[in-house]
Amino acid sequence: MRDAFGRSENEYSRLVAKTNNKMLNQLWEKKKIPEEAWTDHSLELFLAWLASHDTNNRMDMNPLGAGEREGRVKSAFVRRLHCNLSHGIGRSGNLCEIQPKALGSSMLNCLANEFALHSLHTLGLTCARGALVVPVATGMALMLCMGSWRKARPNAKYVVWLRVDQKSCFKSILTAGYEPLVVDPIRVGDALVTDIERLNALVEEKGEEILCVLSTTSAFAPRAPDDIEAIAAICRTHDIFHLVNNAYGLQSTECIRRLNNAKNSGRMDAFVQSLDKNFQVPVGGAIIATTKQSQAASIAQFYPGRASCVPSRDFVLTCLSQGIRSLLEGFEDQHRLFEKMRRKLRAFADEIGENVYDVPDNKISLAMTLSTIPPEKQTLFGSILFSRGITGARVVMSTTKVSRVENYEFLNFGSHTNEQHGGYLAMACGVGMIDGELDELFTRLSSTYLRFIHKVTHSAKAHSTSFDVDRDEFSETDKD
Ligand SMILES: *Cc1c(COP(=O)(O)O)cnc(C)c1O
Repeated sequence: MRDAFGRSENEYSRLVAKTNNKMLNQLWEKKKIPEEAWTDHSLELFLAWLASHDTNNRMDMNPLGAGEREGRVKSAFVRRLHCNLSHGIGRSGNLCEIQPKALGSSMLNCLANEFALHSLHTLGLTCARGALVVPVATGMALMLCMGSWRKARPNAKYVVWLRVDQKSCFKSILTAGYEPLVVDPIRVGDALVTDIERLNALVEEKGEEILCVLSTTSAFAPRAPDDIEAIAAICRTHDIFHLVNNAYGLQSTECIRRLNNAKNSGRMDAFVQSLDKNFQVPVGGAIIATTKQSQAASIAQFYPGRASCVPSRDFVLTCLSQGIRSLLEGFEDQHRLFEKMRRKLRAFADEIGENVYDVPDNKISLAMTLSTIPPEKQTLFGSILFSRGITGARVVMSTTKVSRVENYEFLNFGSHTNEQHGGYLAMACGVGMIDGELDELFTRLSSTYLRFIHKVTHSAKAHSTSFDVDRDEFSETDKD
């Protein structure tokens, strides 16, 4: 058979090698998300190429590891799962230092950070100067920012937290070793917005002892994004750090607009976003973006130890598998679908005599009143929605109960405010949702609601109907 391979076949083979090399080298030279999507075949080639740079995969000689951490992986399955990349990222407690034994993993880490900045810029976040992909979720990433700032404000013991009822961002303050000073939002129209006056008074009073203000852009309606422009101005006047929790805010043009304005109008040091909520990768990573390049480096320096490269890897592969164009299209689809969700929810609310909260600045989440369901039945309604396969939509009841998060007490936790209300249903349109899912959501929501109302109004002893089965089988709210 060998005689059948002639000059043209050999030439073609050289072309294949050249093309593959060109593709990989260009990526490494540019360090930008390519315009066009890569095929799965190219992704495999890319990973094999990276792994070849790690010393334990050397082919020019037999590698001999004489250290305590040599990238050995016992299980062949686990090795395959990680595509022979086993060294992780970082070195002796600096996430951005190159690990000589693991050049491939270090290159992957570098690409992840570059892609993160590229994607933020492409989404319009011109205020970002540095970006760091960290192998921890949003709450822990917020903690890393605060921890890295400690030495800059040695007298600080407080972090001002603009209340948003989500436990991980609150706990990030405690984990960083600071005491939270809570500022509740105030009601303007239907929306819960930042109490700038109260924040100002607090900062005036305790300025020196405050490390930073922790604000939030993306939150469940009726909470609006914080007024980070005004907060940034206060932080600049008082020379304190400003950290923004932008957990799923990359999807919202309003969050992006505010972030850019905040940098121009005052001080904003860093904003943190979840990798999974924004880029559809498995949970485990976040992007810390900074408005000064040197800030990202100092947070990387603060990180204790080496880290998993899995979140960086999944993010890089996800960017390559889409290309910058369809990455953007995914976000544009969210903008369109959110408007559709709002139209549909308003139509549904009209039909059943409810109202959709008017929170124009929240372009991800919606809330609808539940006045037609007696308060004592609202939780049950939430658990039935869950049992019908609707996850993420949650019923928020008003409560005078006190909830504890560590040693801190909150009234009406879940509502972002102590203020009592009539109960509502909140839902979000996250990037990745598709038209069919949205249609099905409203079909199920509508049929479940009508059946529920029928039982509640037509059964004198509604509490003993078959709905109780649901209550036992399913948890009441999504605790996410
Ligand atoms: C998701 C989210 C967080 C962070 O949660 P992690 O599990 O740490 O990623 C923080 N705040 C808000 C508002 C969120 O939605």
